[in-house]
Amino acid sequence: MKTLQDCQALDAQDPLRTLRDLFELPGGVTYLDGNSLGALPRAAAARVAAAVHQQWGMGLIRSWNDAGWFDMPGRLGDKIARLIGARPGEVVATDTTSINLYKVLSAALRIVRVDAPGRSVVVSERSNFPTDLYIAQALCQESSLRLHLMDGDDVEAALTPEVAVLMLTHVNYRTGAMHDMAAVTRAAQARGSLVVWDLAHSAGAVPVDLHAAGADFAVGCGYKYLNGGPGAPAFCWVHPRHTDRFWQPLAGWWGHAAPFEFTPEYRPAPGIARYLCGTQPILSMVALECGLDTVLAAEPLGGMAALRAKSLALTDLFIELVEQRCDGHGLGMATPLEHERRGSQLCLTRDVGSYAIVQALIARGVIGDFRAGDGGRYKDILRFGLTPLYTRHQDVWQAVEHLRQVLDTAEWQRPEFNQKHAVT
Ligand SMILES: *Cc1c(COP(=O)(O)O)cnc(C)c1O
Repeated sequence: MKTLQDCQALDAQDPLRTLRDLFELPGGVTYLDGNSLGALPRAAAARVAAAVHQQWGMGLIRSWNDAGWFDMPGRLGDKIARLIGARPGEVVATDTTSINLYKVLSAALRIVRVDAPGRSVVVSERSNFPTDLYIAQALCQESSLRLHLMDGDDVEAALTPEVAVLMLTHVNYRTGAMHDMAAVTRAAQARGSLVVWDLAHSAGAVPVDLHAAGADFAVGCGYKYLNGGPGAPAFCWVHPRHTDRFWQPLAGWWGHAAPFEFTPEYRPAPGIARYLCGTQPILSMVALECGLDTVLAAEPLGGMAALRAKSLALTDLFIELVEQRCDGHGLGMATPLEHERRGSQLCLTRDVGSYAIVQALIARGVIGDFRAGDGGRYKDILRFGLTPLYTRHQDVWQAVEHLRQVLDTAEWQRPEFNQKHAVT
């Protein structure tokens, strides 16, 4: 049986252990929610303060040129590209994941309308993050298309000749189950569909190679594993074979070929810049860049492959400790046991009390979160994000030990842990 000392010994040998020092983490807290809001990079406060005082305060309007503000979506996009198997000039950091999904899904549908006009179905999963489904519903409504939501895992069965676009999230936000991006992309394209990937729980969490997979479009989130701060800009990527074919419907001036010519006609910028819409939130961009730099700091230590190895070691440890220490408490495992099907989070199920157990853990300083089930196929989930940049083996040990105590003592049944908050 593994002890706390064993876990501390694993931390002492961890080749990535120094990366934790790049973050400001509060004492007395075991933070296992970096998949919802990444931790604060130590550099962020000073960099944002400098952007406020020097760039904004002193530089004023000149900072659009002098401080490189105008180039930030592309410059940050190039940093993101290194994490997702894209090339320089193919990614922009901009807007939100929801908005970027609207843009890329619209572009994908425009391409299909020309190349394969009979195709009228968008396919996704009922278990996908709801905003993705809402955006797809809205687009299908305005284009008289049908949205088909898969209930099971059989993607190939859903790929009928009517399918225009397959829109999937690579790592499921609730269960942490991961698709085989290359195999699914190949299967969809072989049947004539385009594929849009949402990398919200992948970028900075698991290795992604969009070019190796031959993907068509991708979007992702800046405030989860990329540590960009609350509401950080998201990103989008378009394969170069598609980028210049159409522009996206939110044709604002930042996506114009020459925004400062102020011409009345829209002329899309070449390349990924046409996926920009309006003026970017520069202070948030500055914070996002600090977050990206924390992930890129792993490059000399083995990069995403090393982060992945640690992430799997942490989720394996979590599973092992839950089996050893929480036996008989009715916990189920929602996260796949096979490594190649698992993202960077660990999800447990329990028939009753999941929400209250998470609240009791938070009161003890172990911060995970709760995701509601649908009363049917999907059970309520206790979710623990294991961000390999700053999560230690001893954090996993602490989390499972507190979970054991909360269950052993039935502490979770106390009324204060059974009141719902607005954000779960
Ligand atoms: C977190 C997440 C989002 C968030 O979208 P926002 O527009 O940033 O609110 C979208 N999709 C998925 C799959 C996510 O996990």
